[in-house]
Order: sequence, then structure tokens, then C-alpha cells
Amino acid sequence: MREPPLHARPRVAFLGLGAIGRPMAARVARLYPLTVWNRTADVARRVGEATGAKVAATPREAAEAAEVVLTCLPTSAEVEGLLDGPDGLLAGFRPGTLLVDCTSGSPEGSRRIAERLRSAGHGFVDAPVSGGTNGAEAGTLTVMVGGEVQDVLQAREVLRAFGQRIEHLGPVGAGHAMKAVNNALLAVNILSLGEALTALAKAGVEPRAAVEVLNVSSGRSFVSEVLVPERVLTGQFPPTFRLALLHKDAGIAADLAAAVGVDHPMLAQAVELLDRARAALGEQADYLEAVKVSERQSGVEIRG
Ligand code: NDP
Repeated sequence: MREPPLHARPRVAFLGLGAIGRPMAARVARLYPLTVWNRTADVARRVGEATGAKVAATPREAAEAAEVVLTCLPTSAEVEGLLDGPDGLLAGFRPGTLLVDCTSGSPEGSRRIAERLRSAGHGFVDAPVSGGTNGAEAGTLTVMVGGEVQDVLQAREVLRAFGQRIEHLGPVGAGHAMKAVNNALLAVNILSLGEALTALAKAGVEPRAAVEVLNVSSGRSFVSEVLVPERVLTGQFPPTFRLALLHKDAGIAADLAAAVGVDHPMLAQAVELLDRARAALGEQADYLEAVKVSERQSGVEIRG
């Protein structure tokens, strides 16, 4: 299908230019007229210079410049925090503006936001992503969407800028529920591999050999096949996704299980271990550094 000319495409705003927001916004700028906003203005200025996007001074100014507004902030609380006030998003929305929240947020936070927007005549979809900063750069993210069909159709047009698989999972909140569960499983994997590989190292099994055997056996996972070889065995731990955010995601998944009355001892344990890791390693630690808790406790490292 031929693309419509640039001026005929929806104008997009992107708010929240963090580790993953920056490459996502850069992909949007390749397809749509884009305006960006970031709390730390210098970051937005640099993204504007690199991508040709306009830079807004306030969330309101960004909203005024767009039909579709994307947010990518740490939690739903920060998204709610951008809505109100004379410089807030709502002050800049025109009738029918669509807010597409790519934050890994909470289902009940999304439902609250959607309700407020709906009563003011605007649409909302939750559209968190998976695939990491590399996936954002490559445009291969998985996007997990919750919302009403018409809103999702409109969002899909923009989400394709960075999403390879865009899955509509149900009403508002369904995307955030799915994303939280995905990341809770990622967390369980990282934590259990950290313990298991540390134990093997202490028992005298060389970590790289252990990982290679796991990866041709039934205990393998994305963490053992990709993340541990690239980032743990090498000792690199590149800062791509903060441990604090993984802790938040696991907490959302545990809350979700509790809300629907499902016992969740595994998820609860993962939340507690991530809480301890976050306290020990700090707010800026990368998520894979969670393995360092087991390493420090045992006095050995999982390095190739
Ligand atoms: P970062 O911590 O790198 O960036 C957070 C962004 O939110 C920054 O732009 C920051 O602005 C902004 N921000 C923080 N607090 C506020 C606030 N109170 N008001 C306005 N803006 C605020 O996070 P990521 O980019 O890594 O993650 C963003 C979301 O995407 C999270 O929900 C995360 O779970 C999810 N995600 C992240 C992935 C990753 O690989 N990094 C992968 C998949 C999902 P400032 O520059 O001023 O600090």
C-alpha cells in the first residue's frame, strides 16, 4: 500500500524520552510529523536535533500539536501526573485526541485514565511494548494493546512505526496486564538463573560451560540463550532497562493475581527478591544486575 504524503498523516506527539522512549520516538519521526516533550528539556532538544522532531515546552504544547499522543513514562502514576493543570495534556487535547500509553503501567491506572479521557471526548489505549531498546531501534517490538476497537485501529497506524507484532488483547488495561505478566516471568527467570548458575560456579562448574549445556537442554530460556551470554558472562551489564522498573512490573503482576483471587507465591517471592535487589543495587542498576545479589552472597561470579 502506498503511504499518504507526510502532511496527510496523523500528527504525533511523544512524551517520555527515556531509554526506550528515545528509539521509539526516533522510529515515529521517520513516518509521521512528530513533536516531542521530555521532563528534562535537554533530552528533548537532543532528540529534536537528531530526528527533526519539533520540541514542545510543555505537555500541553505537545498535545496541541498532535492527533495521536504517545506516552512512555515509568508508571501509570507519572502518566496521570501529566494530565492536569494549565500546562497538562488535557488542556491541549482537542475533541477526539487519542492517548496511546506505551508505559508498562497498571491496568487500574489505565482504566482511571481512560475514564477521565472518555468523559472529555478523547480515546485511550494502553500499548506497552516488549523487545528492549534494541527492538525499539530495529522496529521489531511486540506491542500489547488494550482498548476499544476503533481506538486500537487508530493507534495501530502509529504503533507500526516501532511494532512488528501488534496484538489487541481486550479492553483498556488488558495490554498492561499482559505486559506485567510477561515481565514477571522474565524476572523469575533472571532470579532463578542467578541463584542456579552461582550455585554451579561454587560447585566447580565453569559458568560458560553451564550456560552452553543449559541451552541445548530443557532448562533453557530467552534469559539463558541471549541475555546471560551477552550481558552476564561478559560482565558488561549494559544499562538498558532499570531493575526498579522490572520490580514495578512484577508488583503489577502480583497485584493482578491478588485482585482476581489467584494464589501467587512465586510472583510474591519474585517481588520480594527484586525489592531487596533494588535496595542493594540502587535505582539506576540494570535489571540483569539482579544476579549480583546471589554472587555477592556466595562470593563467586557468573562470568565466562
Ligand atoms: P527511563 O527510566 O529510562 O526513562 C523514564 C522517562 O520518564 C524519562 O524520559 C523521564 O524523564 C520520564 N519521567 C520520569 N518521571 C517523570 C515525571 N514525574 N514526569 C514526567 N516525566 C517523567 O525508563 P525507560 O525508558 O526504560 O522505560 C519507560 C517505560 O517503558 C517503563 O514503563 C518501562 O517499564 C517500559 N519499558 C522499558 C523497556 C526498556 O528496555 N528500557 C522495555 C519495555 C518496556 P527525565 O529524562 O526527565 O528523567
